[in-house]
Amino acid sequence: MLKTGMESDLAISKDRKYLWHHISPYSEANPPMIAASASGSWVTDIDGKKYLDGMSGLWCVNVGYGRKELAEAAYNQLLSLPYFPLTQSHMPAILLAEKLNEWLGDEYVIFFSNSGSEANEAAFKMVRQYQQQIGQHYRHKFIARYRGYHGNSFGALSATGQAQRKYKYEPLSGGFLHVAPPDSYRRPAGQSVEEFNLLMAQQIEDTIVWEGAETVGAVIMEPVITGGGVIVPHQVYMDRVQEICKKHGVLLIIDEVICGFGRSGRRFGHHNFGVKPDIVTMAKGLTSAYLPLSATAVRKEIYEVFKDNSDDYGYFRHINTFGGNPAACALGLRNLEIMEQENLVERGDLLGKRLSAGLSGLLDHKLVGDVRSFGLITGVELVADKATKEPAPLDTVKGIIADCKAKGLIIGKNGDTVAGFNNVLTFAPPLASTDEDIQFILDTFTEVLNGSWAK
Ligand code: PLP
Repeated sequence: MLKTGMESDLAISKDRKYLWHHISPYSEANPPMIAASASGSWVTDIDGKKYLDGMSGLWCVNVGYGRKELAEAAYNQLLSLPYFPLTQSHMPAILLAEKLNEWLGDEYVIFFSNSGSEANEAAFKMVRQYQQQIGQHYRHKFIARYRGYHGNSFGALSATGQAQRKYKYEPLSGGFLHVAPPDSYRRPAGQSVEEFNLLMAQQIEDTIVWEGAETVGAVIMEPVITGGGVIVPHQVYMDRVQEICKKHGVLLIIDEVICGFGRSGRRFGHHNFGVKPDIVTMAKGLTSAYLPLSATAVRKEIYEVFKDNSDDYGYFRHINTFGGNPAACALGLRNLEIMEQENLVERGDLLGKRLSAGLSGLLDHKLVGDVRSFGLITGVELVADKATKEPAPLDTVKGIIADCKAKGLIIGKNGDTVAGFNNVLTFAPPLASTDEDIQFILDTFTEVLNGSWAK
């Protein structure tokens, strides 16, 4: 731990003076929590107060905090080879790329970057270049979904379907189109979930056809929309999406930045649906966020097209100084070994079922409209009126989160960023959480909802 011996008031005043926080409005009334240390699923602030981190940071500390083995893996690598660019090669990157193939269960070639946004940017460039090099010169467009998030950089933000993240930063990159997500909870009355999901998938095909299939390069989607409100598709949706992409020569990019590495109850989110993506992007759980690292996994046949150097610039001219840093790769490899040794993918699935069953017990509460789960990701959609499904106001959502925090439980929400629908509380504790941790989440959340929010 970094020992500053600093009083929290002084730390907060220095924080306010020098630090610019991510996606958080400045608030005089609500100072930031200053974390000092963490172990397992628990974080301790500089005043010594403990919180259960029901969001694993930003859905990323999959193996939990305080893993000495991860620190050692990075430390040892930093001593032997702290850096070498991946314009050439090094063993930690080779071994991790091999391990990722084993986890993906298919043949992919791996390009390393540092963040989820960068992994998606690399994917977009690969798609455009690939389509050109196979003679599909006009295939430059991407189709994504409203409510999906794909990152902060111009391309990744353009793919994002959350209007309020884009305000005041536009115009963004051209060529990104959006369709509605398969939000089954809000499907029209009289439609079955399957029918509704097929209609939502059909929007993708309609968009491809209307745009001119020969202009569309790829579809990008998360297996389930996570930060946009935990929107879980039906199997028929994913089957149909895959079929549509194949039929029209459109590549399928699956963004596993949150769903990857056990978060979905399987090694990768798309494994739940039997989908075979052309490109898989990943970050967060790859190192359990102990160090920055991300990857763009590309099906071998696509990579082959970049081997052809006969025309000018046939290789991928994308460089990333820090991407695939040896210490981050060594740590990532150890992280995956820990998940295997401790069966954390299976554990996450079990805990997810328990959490979801417990939270579903609150469906009688007047504010709880829906409870949705995918592995160890659960969303609780809050409504002001169960009959009309009118979203609960943001003040209610924020009030419940603040009350949980006062009782030592950190939970999340789908940002202040999804126009009109900022009403989904999110739960994604570490996969290595104990049974008691999950019970603490359920007890604390139930106590909060049945307290002042019961009226
Ligand atoms: N894709 C998804 C699904 C995400 O949730 C995120 C971040 O939360 C990103 C991409 C971007 O990742 P990063 O913040 O590491 O750039």
